[in-house]
Amino acid sequence: MLRALALPCNSKSRAAGWRSVACKGERGLMQRSDTARSDMFACAQIHGGAVNESRKLACLCGAVTIDLIGEPAALANCHCGTCRDFYGTSILSASAWPADRAVASGALQVFQHPHKQMSRAFCATCGETLFGTNRLGMRVVPNSLLARAHDGTLPAERQPTMHLFYRHRVIDVIDALPKYLDGWDGPVFEAGN
Ligand SMILES: [Zn+2]
Ligand SMILES: [Zn+2]
Repeated sequence: MLRALALPCNSKSRAAGWRSVACKGERGLMQRSDTARSDMFACAQIHGGAVNESRKLACLCGAVTIDLIGEPAALANCHCGTCRDFYGTSILSASAWPADRAVASGALQVFQHPHKQMSRAFCATCGETLFGTNRLGMRVVPNSLLARAHDGTLPAERQPTMHLFYRHRVIDVIDALPKYLDGWDGPVFEAGN
């Protein structure tokens, strides 16, 4: 008999024998089941979707896909001028993944930043950016791709957890997330700054 308990997707069970299962819905699952098959079954029963441990994203024309495997290293909104120029967006809302957990296939072209240690990989046909690579070698995947793969809605467990380089913003944001003026090891924005 399957026993399941709805909890936030990214929560970790402290009770022996229970483990978390990421899923497509807003809430995940804790269960005693010990097989992947029953994980899938329970998740599909509750949320009508498959377990979200691996997710294939695609560019607009479908010529390039990227598989996201496991959990990202970071989830953030970046307000820095470099992202603004490089990605052509006022705020880059994205997740960062080790290269072996964001695996692309298809005809990609890569543009190397002329001055900085970063590059952008885009579809040779439609031109959409699939990911950027930062100076740490992480693959930065725009949330627009992730939302498209989830029927237009960014999953709860993939929502940004912070704002970075908020000092350099061109748009003010009102939300409850920490707004680091620079990197996440620095001071946080206080209203009135
Ligand atoms: Zn394309
Ligand atoms: Zn940035």
